[in-house]
Amino acid sequence: MKPLIVANWKMNPQNLAQAKQIFNSVKKGLEDVKSAEVVICPPFIYLPTLFDFLSRWIKSQIKLGAQNCFWEEKGAYTGEISLLMLKNFACKYVIIGHSERRGILKETNSMINKKIKAALSFGIKPILCVGEKKEEKQKEKIFVVLKSQVEQGLRKISKKEIENIIFAYEPVWAIGSGNPCSLDESHVVRLLLQKIIAQKYSRQVAQKLQILYGGSVKSSNVNGFIKDAGFQGVLVGGASLDPKEFIEIVKNAS
Ligand code: PEP
Repeated sequence: MKPLIVANWKMNPQNLAQAKQIFNSVKKGLEDVKSAEVVICPPFIYLPTLFDFLSRWIKSQIKLGAQNCFWEEKGAYTGEISLLMLKNFACKYVIIGHSERRGILKETNSMINKKIKAALSFGIKPILCVGEKKEEKQKEKIFVVLKSQVEQGLRKISKKEIENIIFAYEPVWAIGSGNPCSLDESHVVRLLLQKIIAQKYSRQVAQKLQILYGGSVKSSNVNGFIKDAGFQGVLVGGASLDPKEFIEIVKNAS
């Protein structure tokens, strides 16, 4: 399976001209790179333009994703974006439960669960983010935290549906810090995640999981997370806004 490289632009860049520039540079730089699957998750407001660019480019290696979604399809939900709307712009993936949404916007595991179910029902792959905060790590609570995020986030989700969910282990303390998790530690946590899934579903389901690592990924460390720590890809925040660095990340991951 090709590694999956997901770019999370967060609330960047500040205007459409810059978004087009980043996107076009990445697209050009990756024209001949076929050894990785690349997903770009821009802010919602740039999706129509990037969708338009992509639809004119038949050889596209790049797919679009969203950074969030709402669980209802339509109606009186001011400020929200539905999965149906995302589907209209060919979004194939949606990031759900990012730590910035859990922390700053108080998103709960129960809201995350509804979003995952809704994404699955629209055939959009959820990328479920899980990870511990610094103080939870210091108190050796990684397993407990991940277990509750996974169990509550996946409430009433079947064995069959799990195959369409991508997991992203993102230790909160590593995000945007320039201080990634060590390869040994991330490898252990990847196994812990598989154990949690094996206990909830089965060993076979756990073995097939697609788990990404996220948190200060750059071109110089991406290979280790895939080759040594065994992740099936990475989720990239800050470095995904620098086309040159992002292209290197994709190349080095392959
Ligand atoms: C993220 O926000 O998902 C992330 C991994 O950020 P960064 O790469 O900047 O640490």
